[in-house]
Amino acid sequence: MDLKNVQSINLASILKEPGSKSAEGVIAQRVGPEKGGILLAEPADWRATVTHMGGEFWLSGEIHGQALMECRRCLKPTPVPVHAYFQHLLNYQPGVEGVKLVEEPEEIYYFGEPDLDLSNFLYQAFALELPLTAVCHEDCAGLCPVCGADLNETECEHTKELKKKTPFVALEGLLKEFS
Ligand SMILES: [Zn+2]
Ligand SMILES: [Zn+2]
Repeated sequence: MDLKNVQSINLASILKEPGSKSAEGVIAQRVGPEKGGILLAEPADWRATVTHMGGEFWLSGEIHGQALMECRRCLKPTPVPVHAYFQHLLNYQPGVEGVKLVEEPEEIYYFGEPDLDLSNFLYQAFALELPLTAVCHEDCAGLCPVCGADLNETECEHTKELKKKTPFVALEGLLKEFS
């Protein structure tokens, strides 16, 4: 087991009495589940603190990393910086398996083991901050819609054609073809 990759915090010392516990770690390649998680361009750093006060547990944490997304124009893998913060109310209930969300009357996560699994909290927060799309470069030229050539690196015959013709000339050509 790679200790650096553990995404949990041990609360044994504060389960029965007020106090605070912190943990931090590094996520190497992927935030979230093996399938469908978010690929990283660089390892992500996280830290989290749980404070036990008056029978309630407050979890707060943050995760910073570079997600790897596809450029929406040329599909090149593109690093996207993500900075996410989260805060949740928790309750300890021995016997509960894993971490269980109860939404009423307020959002509370129940946990039953002293070792609190943080992976889902980290994943949720990270995913929320992820932009819908990414662009590798402001003026990425994208791919040729006809042959798929990466127009940042090469010029295919289609783009040469397009550049030569003004839209009007192109239209004229089309009309001729159809007449
Ligand atoms: Zn691009
Ligand atoms: Zn082309």
